[in-house]
Amino acid sequence: MKQVGFINLDLRINAEKVNAMPKSHQCSFCGETIPPGTGIMYVKIDGSTLWFCSSKCRKNAIELKRDARKLKWTKYYQKEERARI
Ligand SMILES: [Zn+2]
Repeated sequence: MKQVGFINLDLRINAEKVNAMPKSHQCSFCGETIPPGTGIMYVKIDGSTLWFCSSKCRKNAIELKRDARKLKWTKYYQKEERARI
């Protein structure tokens, strides 16, 4: 009977590991939160990782090399410049 109890305990631990909540990330370009299971993880040659919510953000950051602070649709757009205009 004791052995059965130990087996049940082990199953519970495994179930907790499986049901662990996946981490949600923030887009490295636009700043939006990425739902778990979606998005692109981009690993640079130096080992740093970038998370992108869409191919739009990935292309703007890597291929087009745009500054997120200069684009109005990103969360990193500088509010100070907006106030001056
Ligand atoms: Zn994005």
